[in-house]
Amino acid sequence: MSDYAADPSRARETADTAYIHDVAIVGLGPVGQVLALLLARHGHDVVVVEKQAEPYPLPRAVHYDGDISRALDGLGLADFMAEFSSASDIY
Ligand SMILES: Cc1cc2nc3c(=O)[nH]c(=O)nc-3n(C[C@H](O)[C@H](O)[C@H](O)COP(=O)(O)OP(=O)(O)OC[C@H]3O[C@@H](n4cnc5c(N)ncnc54)[C@H](O)[C@@H]3O)c2cc1C
Repeated sequence: MSDYAADPSRARETADTAYIHDVAIVGLGPVGQVLALLLARHGHDVVVVEKQAEPYPLPRAVHYDGDISRALDGLGLADFMAEFSSASDIY
């Protein structure tokens, strides 16, 4: 865990530090996570900033559709997802 994650107020103290990245993503929700992974797989230097020190503690995705399934497959997560999910004809 970075110092910033342990104490987010430190980020403000050191905000004048210069970092150069190709892409900055604000928010490490599912959209930010998938986007960061896809961009990194295409060779981009990505930084993600997240205001919460810990992940949200409750599940917020019970169903996902074919587009999301293909995106997760593209990230090499098909086997991992198959461990705790099953296909359904109803969405
Ligand atoms: C109870 C519940 C059940 C749900 N069930 C389903 C489901 O079954 N299937 C489904 O597909 N979807 C479901 N959803 C919706 C799903 O959770 C959202 O669509 C999804 O989380 C959106 O992802 P996101 O990355 O766009 O945003 P978020 O998940 O909201 O992530 C945004 C992130 O940005 C961070 N952030 C915000 N502002 C800043 C800032 N200024 N600086 C730094 N970080 C910041 C936040 O802390 C957060 O971590 C559910 C939602 C809820 C609440």
